[in-house]
Amino acid sequence: MRTLPNFSLKSLNSFGFDISAEEYIAVASSDVLRQAIDYAKSKSMPWYVLGGGSNLVIHENLPGLTIHVHIMGKKLVTKTSSHALVDVGAGENWHEFVQWTLDNNLPGLENLALIPGTCGAAPIQNIGAYGSEIGQFIDSIEVLDTQQDDDELRWQTLTKADCQFKYRHSVFKDHPGRYIVTQVRLAIPLEWCPNLQYAELAKHTSNISPLLPLDIFEAVCKIRQAKLPDPKVLGNAGSFFHNPVVDESTYLSLKEKFPNLVSFPSQTVNGQAQFKLAAGWLIDQCGFKGYRQGDIGVYDKQALVLVNHGHGNGKELLQLATLIQEKIHAVYGVDLTQEPMNLPTS
Ligand SMILES: Cc1cc2nc3c(=O)[nH]c(=O)nc-3n(C[C@H](O)[C@H](O)[C@H](O)COP(=O)(O)OP(=O)(O)OC[C@H]3O[C@@H](n4cnc5c(N)ncnc54)[C@H](O)[C@@H]3O)c2cc1C
Repeated sequence: MRTLPNFSLKSLNSFGFDISAEEYIAVASSDVLRQAIDYAKSKSMPWYVLGGGSNLVIHENLPGLTIHVHIMGKKLVTKTSSHALVDVGAGENWHEFVQWTLDNNLPGLENLALIPGTCGAAPIQNIGAYGSEIGQFIDSIEVLDTQQDDDELRWQTLTKADCQFKYRHSVFKDHPGRYIVTQVRLAIPLEWCPNLQYAELAKHTSNISPLLPLDIFEAVCKIRQAKLPDPKVLGNAGSFFHNPVVDESTYLSLKEKFPNLVSFPSQTVNGQAQFKLAAGWLIDQCGFKGYRQGDIGVYDKQALVLVNHGHGNGKELLQLATLIQEKIHAVYGVDLTQEPMNLPTS
C-alpha cells in the first residue's frame, strides 16, 4: 500500500476547486481499503472517502488521508421469481452501470440515468430523479464499519431497512464517514413498469409506442442535458439545496401570500399532509438566478444550481449559499438545507 503526498483533487471534485489532499490513495480492493484505514488510525490522522466528487464542497485542503474508492465489478447474481439480484462495486460509475443494466435486459433504473458519481456513493444520499430513488432498488450493502466501540474495523452487510432511506437521506448521512461502502446489491423487479409520474418525462415520451426502457433512458438524458450544466464545462454539484418540506398550514399560508408558489404534495407524516416546495423557484423569485460574486454564482438557467465560473473556491461558495439561505428565510420563513457535503466536515 502506497499513499501519494500533496495530491491535487482539482479533477476529483465537480466544482473544480483547486484543492489538494495531504495524502491520497486509490483503493481497488477491500483488503487495501482496510489497510488504508488501519494506516490512518495508526497515525491518528483523519480520513475522507471520495467517489466521483460530484456531491462535495471541498472548502480547504484535506488534512490526513483521502481514500478514493475504485472497487470495480458488476454481475447478475441470480434471479428470484420476482427480482434480479445484481452486485456492483462501489467504484463503478453510476450512469455506466444504468446503461449496463439496460444492455443486459434488466430495466428499472432508467429514470436515474446520467446522475454523476459512483455506485458506492449513490445510497449515501439516496440519489433520486424523475420519480425514482435508488433506495427502492436496494437489497443490501457491503460496508466496512470504521467506528465500532472497541476500535475494531468490521465488515457488515446492511439490509435495505438498516439503510433507513428517506428523501436524499440515509443512515450513512446520520453517521458521516462511519461506513465505507464496498459493494451494492440491487434487487431489480423482473416485471418492468414505466415510471412516468413526472409530467415532463411523460410529455417527452407521449408519442412513443410501444414505450421501451431505452426510450425513457434517452428522454431522461435529453431533459437533464438541457437543464443542468456539464461539470466538465461549468463546475457544479447539481442541486445545491433540498426542496424544503412543510406541513399543510405552512403551505396554505405561503400559497395565500404567494399564489404562484411552486409545490408538490409530499409523503404524509403521522397522517398529516406535507408539501415539497420547489427550492429553485424560491431562489429565483428572490432574484438570484444568474447572480454572481466573483467566480462563484447561481446558474442562469436553473437557480437551484450553484456554479464555479473558473477560479472560485469552496469558502466563497459557502458564503453565497449562506446569503441565499438567509434571504429565503427572511422572505418565506423557510429553511433551505444544503445537499452536497462539506469537506472537511465542520
Ligand atoms: C450535474 C449534476 C447533477 C446531479 N444530479 C443529481 C440528481 O438528479 N439526483 C441526485 O440525487 N444527485 C444528483 N447529483 C449529486 C451526485 O451526483 C450524487 O450525490 C452522487 O451519488 C455522488 O456520487 P460521487 O461518487 O460523486 O460522491 P462524492 O461526491 O465523491 O461523495 C459524496 C458523499 O458520499 C461519500 N462517499 C463516496 N463514496 C463512498 C463510499 N464508497 N462509501 C461511503 N461513503 C462514500 C463521500 O464521503 C461524501 O460524503 C448531481 C450532481 C451533479 C454534478
